[in-house]
Amino acid sequence: KLYNQVQDLKGSIRVYCRVRPFLSGLSNYMSTVDHIEDGNITINIPSRHGKGRRSFNFNKVFGPSATQADVFSDMHPLIRSVLDGYNVCIFAYGQTGSGKTYTMTGPRELTEKSQGVNYRALGDLFLIADQRKDTFNYDVSVQMIEIYNEQVRDLLVTDGTNKRLEIRNSSQTGLSVPDANLIRVSSTSDVIDLMNLGQRNRVVGATALNDRSSRSHSCLTVHVQGRDLTSGAILRGCMHLVDLAGSERVDKSEVTGDRLKEAQHINRSLSALGDVIASLAQKNSHVPYRNSKLTQLLQDSLGGQAKTLMFVHISPEPDAVSETISTLKFAERVA
Ligand code: ADP
Ligand code: MG
Repeated sequence: KLYNQVQDLKGSIRVYCRVRPFLSGLSNYMSTVDHIEDGNITINIPSRHGKGRRSFNFNKVFGPSATQADVFSDMHPLIRSVLDGYNVCIFAYGQTGSGKTYTMTGPRELTEKSQGVNYRALGDLFLIADQRKDTFNYDVSVQMIEIYNEQVRDLLVTDGTNKRLEIRNSSQTGLSVPDANLIRVSSTSDVIDLMNLGQRNRVVGATALNDRSSRSHSCLTVHVQGRDLTSGAILRGCMHLVDLAGSERVDKSEVTGDRLKEAQHINRSLSALGDVIASLAQKNSHVPYRNSKLTQLLQDSLGGQAKTLMFVHISPEPDAVSETISTLKFAERVA
């Protein structure tokens, strides 16, 4: 069984594409998305960008009318596997404004219907843990960190400290950032409180003109420890929910100083992530985890027996078409 799971490595990396709706006025006939059929998406490239069409294939494609519930609908097995002791990584990739935070968290004015993957995943996790309570006793704890300019920062602090943290993968505790606060939770509402705290801490680092959240990676990690009530055996799984920094390429002639440095850090870490996932998908023997903080952080949860789901987001506007194509090319490489 183990052998088959390792052999099926490629099957453990899934890529879903999501197209967000137009946000204002413009109607869908303007969309660069020509059509969507199962896992296939075809993009119309407007003449000013070199006219033509390109098709891409993924495990699934969600169009602009897909709801948060649709997007989550077949993720239950993934969540269940965390409680079975597997590690899972769920990523949101795409240019700024393409809907990453919407998918992972939801819109600013959150309702139950508009809750994103993070809330639904936690809700599912507690539900399944409860269903198993006669056979397993689960402990759930969370960490939330941010990676900005290749520095790791704890987002679950209440005293405003801004300490740089080290990544030290510990096979004993299963924690890759042992010094980040690890907070025990017992319900979805506990997690919502912590996510709000993390969100507030993330904003502190930003100024009015400088929304840092699009230029840092944020990662909510849920650690699960289950004790088999008959045998006493312990199993450990974790789930990383990652809202990546915006993937847009920055015009080097237009930015300088800090912005250029940020852009270079983001480019490097996103391509390091792409390299790791692509080399796992190709079953390469060498996987280049060391090239970025992000891939170091997730090392134990990418490859091996871990399961990965990448949501790639695209904006439908004609203006966004070159970012759209580059996003889809990135995703095609890891799919
Ligand atoms: P990102 O995190 O990639 O920068 P956001 O998630 O903030 O992008 O999305 C940009 C805007 O588009 C937000 O106002 C968000 O609420 C809206 N939006 C994104 N995806 C959807 C969607 N699927 N349906 C409705 N609104 C969306
Ligand atoms: Mg965002």
